[in-house]
Amino acid sequence: MLPLAVAVAAALIVVALDGAYLLAEHGIAQESRRLTVLNTLENIRTRLERTIGAAQMAGQGIAALVGVKPDLSEAEFATVAKSLMVERTGIRNIGLAFGTVITYVFPKETNAKILGVDYRDRPNQRDSVTRVIRTGAQEIDGPIPLLQGGTGVVIRVPVFVPEAGGARRYRAMVNVPIDLGVLLPGTKVRHDDDLIEIAVRKTDGAVVFGNGSLFAASPLALDVDLPGATWQIGAMPEGGWRQWPRTLQAAGLLGCLLSLLVGVSLYAILRAQQRIGDLNRLYRVLSNINREIIGQQNQNALFDNVCRIAVEVGGFRMAWVGLINDGRVVPVAQVNGEEYLRDISIVIGNAPAGHGPTGRAARDDALNICNDIANEPRMAPWRSKQLSAGYRASIGIPLRQEGRVVGVFTLYAGEPGFFDPQEVILLDEIGADISHALDSIARQAEVRALTDSLERRVAERTLQLRQTNADLESFCHSVSHDLKAPLRAISGFAEILLRRNRNALDDKGRHHLDNIRDAAERMSLLIEDLLSYARIGRGAVQTVAVPVGILLERISATLGERISSSGGVLEVDRALAVPVADPRLLEQILTNLVDNAFKYYRPGVPPRVAVSSREEGSDIVISVADNGIGIASEFHEKIFDVFQRLHSEVDAPGTGIGLAIVRKGVQLMGGEVTVESSPGQGSTFRIILPKSPIKKDGST
Ligand code: ADP
Repeated sequence: MLPLAVAVAAALIVVALDGAYLLAEHGIAQESRRLTVLNTLENIRTRLERTIGAAQMAGQGIAALVGVKPDLSEAEFATVAKSLMVERTGIRNIGLAFGTVITYVFPKETNAKILGVDYRDRPNQRDSVTRVIRTGAQEIDGPIPLLQGGTGVVIRVPVFVPEAGGARRYRAMVNVPIDLGVLLPGTKVRHDDDLIEIAVRKTDGAVVFGNGSLFAASPLALDVDLPGATWQIGAMPEGGWRQWPRTLQAAGLLGCLLSLLVGVSLYAILRAQQRIGDLNRLYRVLSNINREIIGQQNQNALFDNVCRIAVEVGGFRMAWVGLINDGRVVPVAQVNGEEYLRDISIVIGNAPAGHGPTGRAARDDALNICNDIANEPRMAPWRSKQLSAGYRASIGIPLRQEGRVVGVFTLYAGEPGFFDPQEVILLDEIGADISHALDSIARQAEVRALTDSLERRVAERTLQLRQTNADLESFCHSVSHDLKAPLRAISGFAEILLRRNRNALDDKGRHHLDNIRDAAERMSLLIEDLLSYARIGRGAVQTVAVPVGILLERISATLGERISSSGGVLEVDRALAVPVADPRLLEQILTNLVDNAFKYYRPGVPPRVAVSSREEGSDIVISVADNGIGIASEFHEKIFDVFQRLHSEVDAPGTGIGLAIVRKGVQLMGGEVTVESSPGQGSTFRIILPKSPIKKDGST
């Protein structure tokens, strides 16, 4: 609206300026015309007065001559007439009629045919001639058709001669015809752009020359004083005074065209600027919506924000999002539309409530535009409400999920015709982006649901496994415990039998009994180790700061017999770490490692076992290194499993549970154990414990 108003105002200003200019010019032109007409009149009057005066004088001159010489000869007449006729434009001739018959005429050659004419035979001159003879006063007769052709006036001067008794007798009449066609410039005189019309009349109204009706149309008029008469000459521009000169008419037309041009160009420029502004705003909407889309996980929040951006950034009057539900488009988000949407009904189908942009967009899966709410018949169901809310145009943008229309984003603009092809392209893009976001939110929700169910199942399985593990450990514990009693009985009775009945048995019997006792002892050892392994996972891990140096003093005392019998040495680093650990577990772990180190030494090589520690990032590493027989790399994993031994009972007695206890204990404290070894090169076992130990439930 604004560009149109500005353009019209500008055009009107140009028209007004042009009008003012034209009026001023017209005023000047009018004045100049009056002067021109007046000038023309003055010229004509001067010429009339001068010529008629000259004609009169010529007439009077001849008359005077005839008065003193009544028998004037033709030659004398010609001589005088010639001198009187010199350079008298318009005077046709000078004729002398003795009585009423034309006797002499000058110049004779061109006027010979009037000689001998009797005025009394000329009906149009008879009255004038008679009157002049009767009154004795000279007069101008005419206008009349001249005998020689053309129209003119005739100056008539009578000549009277004295008679006896003092009376005067009419003797002759001098006639001087003046050709008005020659004297006057014509009934129309061109002056610049104007054609000036001229007319002459007598005081009694008789028209002497030109069109008499001219005097009824307020011409400029001048009186012409003539002998015995006063004439009036009038003149005015053809077409009247009001008529505009051509140049001004052209200027007026040009002004109108200019104003039209100014109006149209201004409108085009302002409209273009407005469109650029509108497009810029839409670009900002697009970019803000895209920013909003990134990382948005909530569909309702997305709709709310998209509406807010359209109104706040895009300058739309109102924005809402409706989702398709049971054949209707039901509002789920809006900005500025609460009042309007309160009891609005939009259906999807061929019904009046389904023909608006929203319903059509949902039905056709395509943008739908109404650029003139006030006049499009299909808007009837909502028109009055929309117009009173200031909506003049609206667009429905379909929203899709998985390629299927699920809702509509509807926008309202405050001016009709707002949605042009460029805007529609951008809005289509906005619709596609929102649809893309809907897909992405749906996928995220699916992934979240899957992850949740997976985590739930893992937690359930872990719980089941823990339970099963606990059950197994408890089973193992009770079985081991229950086996101890009959085993004690077996080895006890074997001992008694050996002691009391040794002599009653032969060597073979004694040997068998020894085997029974040894096997029972070995089984008791196995059960003891199994019990330790089972017990290790039962109690809760209690972590405190454990000085490893003090632990090793105790271990060295416990294993004193093994160390001394091996002939080796235990070297303990002076500055051993103080990790936060379960002291009972750590003591058992280190005992098992040191015990093995003194057990698996190379024959003839006294064992040297070194215990040291160091910090490595967030871990504390405790190493037990020996110079023993070493372990082939293929067994580095296997040795940590229960009952896995690389030696026969004869080579080195053991149960194969020691390292299994080591690994389980270290893992319970959140750490791990590694071995670095190769045959004949000794072995280094490393316990890696976190500085801040992980509790059994996995928290730190
Ligand atoms: P056990 O010592 O009772 O046999 P372990 O679980 O303590 O059971 O050890 C498993 C096996 O690992 C041993 O049988 C032995 O073959 C090997 N082993 C353990 N420690 C060492 C070591 N320091 N040097 C060489 N071999 C070792």
